[in-house]
Amino acid sequence: MEGYKNYDRKNSIHMHPSVVVNVAMSADGKLSTRERRQVKISGNEDFARVDRLKAGSDAVMVGIGTVLSDDPSLTVKNPEYKAERQRNGRPEHPVRVVIDSEARTPPGSAVLNKGDGMRVVAVSERADPERVRVLRTKATVIVAGKTEVDLSRVLDELGAMGIRQLMVEGGGTLIAGMVRAGLVNEIYTYIGSIVIGGKDAPTLADGPGWTRETDFARLTLADVARMDDGILLHWAVKRV
Ligand code: NAP
Repeated sequence: MEGYKNYDRKNSIHMHPSVVVNVAMSADGKLSTRERRQVKISGNEDFARVDRLKAGSDAVMVGIGTVLSDDPSLTVKNPEYKAERQRNGRPEHPVRVVIDSEARTPPGSAVLNKGDGMRVVAVSERADPERVRVLRTKATVIVAGKTEVDLSRVLDELGAMGIRQLMVEGGGTLIAGMVRAGLVNEIYTYIGSIVIGGKDAPTLADGPGWTRETDFARLTLADVARMDDGILLHWAVKRV
């Protein structure tokens, strides 16, 4: 997959990428502490699995909440995976995508600076033009949506760039938005052997949630595996 940068929206036949959500949660279903401090939930085996999943993806997406609290680089870590990507004519790291209505992504953040490869920041029309101008020096900026980012339109654009496999790393607010928009195909949930607690700690699908049973996302359990000192669940999202 080459030439993400020079994509031509009008002339390309494209479709939404296939979306795989990956999260690690505590035994009580929390993704981090209530102050949104990152916690080591899984172990080496799961880290290796997540790195492999990332290396197999064309793009990795996070919400601005995760960028501000964790400052992740979203890079592939294993040198063998990086070399394999390069042998296949791809950049070492997948395209890194931030969902950020107000263009708050810090220009010095790891996601915009660490490792080679393309970055995309998706903002809404309410983003401050000066901040957008600065972000354009570091990333391709997609403007989609009036007040919050229109995730379906972002996936249209990513599809037009040739992105077929998109990994979503969280957090809970972005995942909820992706589920609500019907954009998620698969979910990997690693459940680790700690209890974090706190009713305000992030979970897999935050935001307002759903109240009508007909609105709940329905899943099919595709696989279960013991891993490190926890369990990995692989879910497929049912199409209704
Ligand atoms: P988040 O999901 O990373 O980002 C959410 C933000 O994205 C929203 O607040 C909103 O901010 C923006 N956004 C724009 N358009 C959106 C849309 N259509 N739908 C949803 N969001 C949209 O933030 P978070 O929920 O605060 O999660 C961060 C926490 O999750 C951190 O504590 C981090 O450590 C944790 N985390 C854990 C894992 C894990 O696997 N354990 C993985 C990732 C993150 P604006 O309005 O400003 O745009």
